[in-house]
Amino acid sequence: MEIANPSNTKDILRKHNLQLKKSLGQNFLIDNNILNKIVETADLTEEDTVIEIGPGIGSLTQKMAETGARVIAVELDDRLIPVLKESLNVYNNIEIVHGDALEVDFSELVDGSFKLVANLPYYITTPIIMRLLEEGFDVEKIVVMIQKEVGERMVASPGGKDYGILSIGVQYHSNPEIAFVVPPTVFIPQPKVESVVIDLKVKEEQNLEVVDEEFFFKVVKSAFHQRRKTIRNSLSKAPYMNLNRDLIDQALEEVGIDPRRRAEKLSIETFAQLSNALFNLTGGE
Ligand code: SAM
Repeated sequence: MEIANPSNTKDILRKHNLQLKKSLGQNFLIDNNILNKIVETADLTEEDTVIEIGPGIGSLTQKMAETGARVIAVELDDRLIPVLKESLNVYNNIEIVHGDALEVDFSELVDGSFKLVANLPYYITTPIIMRLLEEGFDVEKIVVMIQKEVGERMVASPGGKDYGILSIGVQYHSNPEIAFVVPPTVFIPQPKVESVVIDLKVKEEQNLEVVDEEFFFKVVKSAFHQRRKTIRNSLSKAPYMNLNRDLIDQALEEVGIDPRRRAEKLSIETFAQLSNALFNLTGGE
């Protein structure tokens, strides 16, 4: 039985007397074309292990299992665990895990590298993605449905209003692309916003020369602290660091950045150079 078919989804919800919880971001996909496009974007084969966050009633889980990949699905809502086990019991390549994606140790679920594919609960989109990218898990690719506005910030280039800390955080660790846009009409219930499926190819090796990663992100946060101000002012007033103006001027000059520019105009490579110069001048203090 195809779970994503709208009448089958409604039957499953009715049969188990399930009221969807807004607080858990429960907007279920009922469109087979969209599910097929997600699976195509993830490029799954029998060789792959996929972790899915929030399988819901299992529509995407089922599609992914049909590629032959091993699927490990982590769901927080305990009411959905028996529903998933019942609907997906014919597949021997699916494991259902009851847990919180913000807490689960993914490296305990999989031995080796994995892909992460999900229609994410939107209330925790950014913490989940940043956790996967920052905590050193062996994830090679992340294909997730997220709010369009957040996706646009993740892929943004310098110069526009969408470019900021999130763009740099995501692009530091991966090469992100928006795969396609998804309208609210393909979910039950319909979310208020448009969505996108984003494809993050995680970098195997860091191509940016950054002397100290923690210091680099402090500089980025400080630079965007007051994004309408010049880079010089924003850096000197940021609460995360205690940089004196002379050192800031010296570092900006060394790297060749006009102190009147704004953070939103600076590329990630320029931020790397600036943070290295500041690190060398301050000793990282
Ligand atoms: N994959 C299903 C689909 O596409 O129809 C459901 C997606 S729905 C947007 C998000 C799912 O994530 C829900 O099933 C919800 O219960 C689950 N969820 C919410 N918070 C979670 C968390 N912290 N960890 C794991 N799952 C979570």
